[in-house]
Amino acid sequence: MARPKICILFAGGTIGMVKNPKTGVLQPATEASEIIREIPDIQKFVQLDLKMVVNIDSSNMNPSHWTEIAKSIHTHYDKYDGFVVVQGTDTMAYTASALSFALQNLSKPVVFTGSLIPLSEIGADGRNNLIYACLTATLDIAEVCIVFANKILRGNRAKKHHESFVDVFHSPNYPYLGELGRPTALFEWRKKRRKRVLKFKPNFDQKISVLKLFPGFDPYIIERAIERDAHGIIIEGFGPGNIPFIENSLVAQIENAIDHHIPVVIATQMEKGITNLHAYEGGFNALKAGAISSHDMTTEATIAKLMWTLAQTRKVSEIKDIIEKDIAGELSL
Ligand code: ASP
Repeated sequence: MARPKICILFAGGTIGMVKNPKTGVLQPATEASEIIREIPDIQKFVQLDLKMVVNIDSSNMNPSHWTEIAKSIHTHYDKYDGFVVVQGTDTMAYTASALSFALQNLSKPVVFTGSLIPLSEIGADGRNNLIYACLTATLDIAEVCIVFANKILRGNRAKKHHESFVDVFHSPNYPYLGELGRPTALFEWRKKRRKRVLKFKPNFDQKISVLKLFPGFDPYIIERAIERDAHGIIIEGFGPGNIPFIENSLVAQIENAIDHHIPVVIATQMEKGITNLHAYEGGFNALKAGAISSHDMTTEATIAKLMWTLAQTRKVSEIKDIIEKDIAGELSL
């Protein structure tokens, strides 16, 4: 039987880094294609091709890289049974979210992975992650996911929540899609392979502001975002999406933004749970001022979705409809 064909798109991260002997900091190695030599065993089961996108720390990635990765998958879509994207963990949840909007209706998996410890160091997790990511790319799953520390997570539900332990991702508002081990288990709620027509919308408008509230937050910060011509604003509110409405009230500035045709999305600072703008006066005042609710999306998914939506329309009412709808499994209705 022919081995499944998997395409690895390499976009950098710790997995391809080495320590600079002078400064002691991790930086991208020159020869990233080496990573494929680290996993000879898996090549008995799959045919691997490697395509270089970029070799950088993922903190240097921006939406133009998301578009580049999406375009590359789109170009080679019919040639492979699945795709693996290797990048750094710092912004992996953003890229995975972005790709879930750029490539909808997938009939095969797009699997993100990387590592916390470089391949050359003791305790390296990259080899295991890469092998399992390639294996997952052959399985009956058809969505953008992250494979890390033997778990399969929905990409637009994942959050990096740990900096020093190899199990760096969790999925606070959605169960894992599968577990990799003995045996490998895929759960019923994953999207499964079947022939679907791919919807390809790879553009993002990065001109947004993301504001995290804190007690004493100056409403002028929102006015500054409006003055600098933000195309959209996300406010991480308190609890279920509450904002101050007595002293330092944000209500007038939310109205000001809407008057300038700038959508304002209220997200929550809590990892687990859901925005509810009907729960308290704080949220309700934001709602009455015209704010949109991020529901149970992660902030990473909310950011990618707002950028993606703004690349298609600048009409606040249309943006509200898209943000509050489930596009790629990022939001529970
Ligand atoms: N700073 C690295 C990056 O995101 C961390 C990692 O790869 O895990 O590129």
